[in-house]
Amino acid sequence: MSHHKVVIIGTGPAGYTAALYTSRANLAPLVFEGAQPGGQLTITTEVENFPGFRSGIEGPALMEEMRAQVQRFGTTIKPETVLKADLQSRPFKLTTDKGDYTADAVIIATGASAMWLGIDKDEQLSRTGGGVSACATCDGFFFRGKEIAVVGGGDTAIEEATFLTKFATKVHLIHRRDKLRASKAMQERAFKNEKIQPLWNKVVLDVLTNTIETPMGEKVEKIRALKLKDTVDGSESELPVEGLFVAIGHRPNTSLFTGQLPMDETGYLKVEKGSSRTAIEGVFACGDVQDHTYRQAITAAGSGCMAAIDAERWLAEKG
Ligand code: FAD
Repeated sequence: MSHHKVVIIGTGPAGYTAALYTSRANLAPLVFEGAQPGGQLTITTEVENFPGFRSGIEGPALMEEMRAQVQRFGTTIKPETVLKADLQSRPFKLTTDKGDYTADAVIIATGASAMWLGIDKDEQLSRTGGGVSACATCDGFFFRGKEIAVVGGGDTAIEEATFLTKFATKVHLIHRRDKLRASKAMQERAFKNEKIQPLWNKVVLDVLTNTIETPMGEKVEKIRALKLKDTVDGSESELPVEGLFVAIGHRPNTSLFTGQLPMDETGYLKVEKGSSRTAIEGVFACGDVQDHTYRQAITAAGSGCMAAIDAERWLAEKG
């Protein structure tokens, strides 16, 4: 069993930034990358809102840069998934699919996953720039002058729909029932906006596409319409749109910590306000796993920096 001062779980922007700071503080962190090396940005194309890249950068390329940067300072990255974390023992014990490890401090950066509709095409098109997204802040800009749809009925769906009216000509808000879960005040504000058109009692059966040839001669599938089903009378219809935003929620990757760390009602880890400290001393959390509000690469990276500094100071005090 090997022992490490700091173990970081996750290689998204939060985990890599925590690794960057802890490795530059001579803590020689060990990082487990899990099932999605590089995290959520590896399943997207263009990232235009990460500072420092004036022409934008492809998600996988950005994560490759972060990986190379942390390796430069002596971070060890293992292609292993943590299956068990015993945070009650000292040092902490972690079991991966390949071995057992102990750590004085643990930084949790396991992220969150967007929930998709459960049809073949939505998640696939989100990875290939086909006009499907789970993040209006990230991708709204690409839909200027287009007619689009948002699926969902909670506060996030309403927020996303409202934000998207800055770009789109019309936003169809598709919901499976005849009323939304979102707060009344938010609904009232949204429905005053003439660009938002609610479509009640509808579910998306399929995403219909066209194949388009890019100027580089590459063939890509782009959304052209949604196939909808009415949940009351079962009738089917087509809704022509050039974009689809799925806003039915995110699932934080926190099952490892159930019963050990406090979480909110949706499973996000709770941290002390203004820090990355969890309820267990020496365990820190950063990135989307503890943030259901911002969910951006830059905020994840920022909180990864906080976790590294918190861990370093805690280790120094402990002596
Ligand atoms: P993640 O990126 O989710 O990484 C989590 C890491 O934890 C992964 O490496 C995973 O393998 C690892 N992990 C999980 N469980 C375990 C385990 N048990 N053991 C070991 N490792 C584990 N944000 C932007 O700012 N701009 C954008 O343009 C943008 N576009 C996006 C497009 C898409 C399609 C998606 C899905 C998200 C997009 N985002 C964008 C949001 C951004 O990707 C996230 O906010 C950010 O990746 C969160 O970083 P994170 O480090 O917290 O977690």
